[in-house]
Amino acid sequence: MIQTDIIIIGAGPTGLFAVFEAGLLKLRCHIIDALPQPGGQLTELYPKKPIFDIPGYPSVGAGELIDNLMEQIKQFEPGFTLSEQATTIDKQEDGSFIVTTNRGTQIQGKAVAIAGGLGSFEPRKPVIDNIAYFEEKGVEYFVRDPEMFRDKKIVIAGGGDSALDWSIFLAEVAADVTLIHRRNEFRGALDSVDKVIELKKSGKINLITPAEIVGIKGEDKVEGLMIEKEGESFEIETDYFIPLFGLSPKLGPIANWGLEIEKNAIKVNNGLDYQTNIEGIYAIGDVNTYPGKLKLILCGFHEATLMCQSVYNRLNPGKKFVLKYTTVSGVDGFDGTRKEAEKAVVKAID
Ligand SMILES: Cc1cc2nc3c(=O)[nH]c(=O)nc-3n(C[C@H](O)[C@H](O)[C@H](O)COP(=O)(O)OP(=O)(O)OC[C@H]3O[C@@H](n4cnc5c(N)ncnc54)[C@H](O)[C@@H]3O)c2cc1C
Repeated sequence: MIQTDIIIIGAGPTGLFAVFEAGLLKLRCHIIDALPQPGGQLTELYPKKPIFDIPGYPSVGAGELIDNLMEQIKQFEPGFTLSEQATTIDKQEDGSFIVTTNRGTQIQGKAVAIAGGLGSFEPRKPVIDNIAYFEEKGVEYFVRDPEMFRDKKIVIAGGGDSALDWSIFLAEVAADVTLIHRRNEFRGALDSVDKVIELKKSGKINLITPAEIVGIKGEDKVEGLMIEKEGESFEIETDYFIPLFGLSPKLGPIANWGLEIEKNAIKVNNGLDYQTNIEGIYAIGDVNTYPGKLKLILCGFHEATLMCQSVYNRLNPGKKFVLKYTTVSGVDGFDGTRKEAEKAVVKAID
C-alpha cells in the first residue's frame, strides 16, 4: 500500500499547488486523477487559451500554467496515480484514511484533500447496444499509451480536436487508421482538419463521413464495426475502436463519501481551513462551496495553502506554526517553529 501524508484527489491546478504548499511544510503528497494527465479543466478543456487573472502573469497559457506548476512541485517528489478514479475513502481507527481507486490501488494518508473540481471527467459514450461488453476488450475512450496501437488496425470516431489530433498522431503508429464522423464538417482546429485531409490523400488515413457506428462485432474482443453511411450498411475490420466524443464532468463517487453536498459541491467551513463535515477530509478548489465561493484558480490556490497549514497543525499538535516567507527560508525551509523562523530572519538580515 502507498503511504503518504496527504492524499490529494484531483490533479487540477488546486491539487498541484497543494503539493507545493505541503512540501514547504515537509508534508508528502500522493495525487490521484481519473485523467491520464495532470491539469484538470485547464489541460482537458482549454489548454491553448490564455488566462489573464493569475497574479504576476499578464497572460499565461492554460497548458503553460500546468507545466509551470509541475515544474514547481517536482522538487517535492509527489506520487501520482493517473487514469484511476478514487472510489472510496475509509477512515481508520488511528485517524488515517485509505483511499481506493477503481483499479484497486490503495493509498494510506494522514489527511485527504479532495480537489476534484467539477468531478471526474467521464467519456461521453456512443449509444451502441453492446459497447459496455467490449470496454477494455478493444473499446478505448482515452489514448493512454499510443504504443498499444502500434501495427494495429484502429477506428477513431468523433469530430473534435481529440479525434483529429489522435488520428494524425496514430497514422504514424498504427497499421491502419480510419476516422469516422457523422458530419462532413469537423469542429476541430482548421490546420488539423487540413492535415487529416492531406493524410487521407496520401492514403495514411481512411476517412468515412457522414457515417455512424451502429454495432460492434467480435467474440472476446473487438473484431469489427458495423457502419451506416447515407442509408447503406457495411462492416469494417478493426482491432480497436476509439470513440472520442468529449468528456463530461460528474461528481461521481465523491457524492457517496458521507460528505455534506450542496448543489453538486462539498460544503466546507469557510475561512477556517476548508475542512468538510468529516474531520481530516478537506475540499479545496472548484469542488467546494461556502458563502461567497468563487470558482477561480486563484481561490483554489488560497484554499490549498490554508488546508496545508491546517493539516500541519493537526499532525503536529502543540508545535506552534509560524508563517514563513520563501524569500527568507527558500523551499527547503525550516520546520515551522518560531525558533527556526527567527533564525532564518536573522540570517536574511545578516
Ligand atoms: C473554458 C474555461 C475557461 C476558464 N477560464 C478561467 C480563467 O480565465 N481564470 C480562472 O481563474 N479560472 C478559469 N476557469 C475555471 C478554472 O478552470 C477552474 O476554477 C479550475 O480548473 C479549478 O481547478 P481545480 O483544481 O479545483 O479543479 P479541476 O481543474 O476541475 O480539476 C479537478 C480534477 O479532479 C479529478 N477528479 C475528480 N474526481 C475524481 C475522482 N473521484 N478520482 C480521481 N480524480 C478525480 C478530475 O479528473 C480533474 O482532473 C475556466 C474554466 C473553463 C471551463
